[in-house]
Amino acid sequence: MNRRQTIPKHLRYTIEDFNRQFPTDDACFEHLREERFPDGIAHCQTCEQERQHHRVKGRPVYACDECLTQISPMAGTIFEHSSTSLRLWYYAMYLMASTRCGISAKQIQRETGVTYKTAWRMFRQIRSLLSEPDMQLEGSAVEMDETYYGGTRKGKHGRPLRGDTKKSPVIGMVERSTKKRIGRVKALATPDVTAERVLGLVHEHILPKSTVFTDEYRIYDRVGGRVKEHKRINHTAKVYVVGDVHTNTIEGFWSLVKRGIGGVYHQVSQKYLQSYLDEYSFRYNRRDQGNLIFTSLLKRVAELAVPPASEDRGMTPSQEVPF
Ligand SMILES: [Zn+2]
Repeated sequence: MNRRQTIPKHLRYTIEDFNRQFPTDDACFEHLREERFPDGIAHCQTCEQERQHHRVKGRPVYACDECLTQISPMAGTIFEHSSTSLRLWYYAMYLMASTRCGISAKQIQRETGVTYKTAWRMFRQIRSLLSEPDMQLEGSAVEMDETYYGGTRKGKHGRPLRGDTKKSPVIGMVERSTKKRIGRVKALATPDVTAERVLGLVHEHILPKSTVFTDEYRIYDRVGGRVKEHKRINHTAKVYVVGDVHTNTIEGFWSLVKRGIGGVYHQVSQKYLQSYLDEYSFRYNRRDQGNLIFTSLLKRVAELAVPPASEDRGMTPSQEVPF
């Protein structure tokens, strides 16, 4: 049917697979429950310990076998307080995970029939699952580079010149792939691009045993003091590769994001730039998983769920945007 299908069979997850696995709201509910409370074991607030729970007949809640205190698998997740059906949420996540270069709220609206406002909110909630602030780069070879999105582009290599406006700087670090594993990326929208900022990021995200590749821009001057080796390519002299010295991997990622923003999002405000970067990074870091990105996304729902605190429940992401 699709001659350009290149995803290996075991990594494919088609719409037929989706319909088979999640035919109803209840199937989604039970899936979420299993992700959050495997085999129905969950912490009971009343018993103050792990207890076996059972489904309350006809309702989307579970109850403690001992004291009947009820828990909802939706509590603390992006689905809490939402009047949108769980299956629609799952379908929107499937759509977002299975397109290579991102999907817009408009498309979710078209595909699911919800209002644009609802689609936009769902979209934002789902995207909030894609940030991985604690992920550390472990590769022995890491490329680092900065770029700018938005505004006018006059500067060579995307760098702003006098008269440029509204450019949002982004600093990126990417591991080079090895035979054993694919390289992952970390891209951050930063308020500025300075040597101090670069050093901070190197310290935070790159292991000291790594070799770091950058160009000759002066903000990278002090990187060598923080890592095993610092190799630089002279872009101003129009040299792009010398042996293993290049920044082609990170530049490939930049153009991927640029193409996506241009084609799908059209315009990115500085405020949302980081969440777009997170979305692209999430997909890039799982590009060897075919369509199974959807499975990773479902796992993130449970991973990022806010556990019910005994005193103050705090602010959950979904309370931020009441449906
Ligand atoms: Zn109990």
